[in-house]
Amino acid sequence: MIPGPVEFEPSVLQALGAPTSSHVAPGFLESFGNSLEMMKKVWICPSGQPFIVAGSGTLAMEMAAANLTEKGDNVLVVSTGYFGERYAELLKRFGAKTNVLKAETGKTVSEDELEEALKQKKYKLVTFTHVDTSTGVKVDPRPFGRLGKKYGVLTILDGVCSVAGEEIIQEEWGIDVVLTASQKAIGVPPGLALMVVSPKAMNVWRDRKTPVGSYYCDWNNWLPVMEAYSERKPSYFGTPPVNLIMALETSLKLILKEGLKERFARHERIGKAFRAAFRAMSVNTIPENETHSASTLSCPFFPEGVSGQEFMKAMAGSDVTVAPGLLPEMKSEYFRVGHMGSVNNADVMSTLGAIESALTMCGYRYEQGSGLKAALEVLK
Ligand SMILES: *Cc1c(COP(=O)(O)O)cnc(C)c1O
Repeated sequence: MIPGPVEFEPSVLQALGAPTSSHVAPGFLESFGNSLEMMKKVWICPSGQPFIVAGSGTLAMEMAAANLTEKGDNVLVVSTGYFGERYAELLKRFGAKTNVLKAETGKTVSEDELEEALKQKKYKLVTFTHVDTSTGVKVDPRPFGRLGKKYGVLTILDGVCSVAGEEIIQEEWGIDVVLTASQKAIGVPPGLALMVVSPKAMNVWRDRKTPVGSYYCDWNNWLPVMEAYSERKPSYFGTPPVNLIMALETSLKLILKEGLKERFARHERIGKAFRAAFRAMSVNTIPENETHSASTLSCPFFPEGVSGQEFMKAMAGSDVTVAPGLLPEMKSEYFRVGHMGSVNNADVMSTLGAIESALTMCGYRYEQGSGLKAALEVLK
């Protein structure tokens, strides 16, 4: 129950164990092409250009930055935690002039604050983290789409902790790049950087005056490969991770079979159940309110009197794995529970059972069973 790598479906893992074919074998052309097509459906971006490249989520962030910024470009980074800060650092390597609009911990920036910032300067890009995995704060992408259009700024959504878990309608909401990695809500072991890019952003890239500052990330190398695989034709730039892409095809099929609406609703219900449980136990979480709380993970504080170290030790002795805090300034004050991908009601109850036991072992006084009861109320 950590925010990635998550638990994977058996059929996805079987695809990883299958014999590795040539990257130009007819069966693999089909898998790659199908995956590209299904990505456009999962991202809900029918006219977007999907990319599947070997790498982690950070490479997806880097690929968008490398292709869409030139030296001296102004970029606004809206930060709601650790990964916003990372994006600002990363963009500087490509010569971007970054301004960080930082939300208070647990909060987001309002539409007015965002508009104010966009009025101050002519920006080429604005980046934001849909769900920051260090805080559990969820940002509404719609104002970014609206204001991006109004001010002629490209929008990049870091969806590593949200794509296929939180609702995103990329095309309708006008988001130019939605990027993610395989090991989170997409449900495939780590190793794939994934993104869908709007036609507008592809045109901005085509109009560049200077070459892309990274050879591996350059869409000049990757676009022909993606176009070829879409047509089920062989192509090569860098050897694709054959088995991971077969696993991706399997997982995307499962996602579409479940149905996006149903999948988002399941994540929402499970997120609510966790929050109801924490509330019932008087355990606070980082996001300031329900609307800013992610469905894909929770970030609860250790309650007063409970030693974080002792709690994590007690959790390690249970059969449930949770993650420690990540935000540098308050790392030791909270822990993280991932609930994305193939999570179900039973996972919620067993996780909360382990958390309740660990709290009790740490001497926390509360009404035992109150968390489980509150979660059950939501789940039923
Ligand atoms: C995990 C994560 C990343 C980084 O992904 P890696 O695969 O670890 O490189 C970036 N952004 C967010 C929001 C994440 O959750």
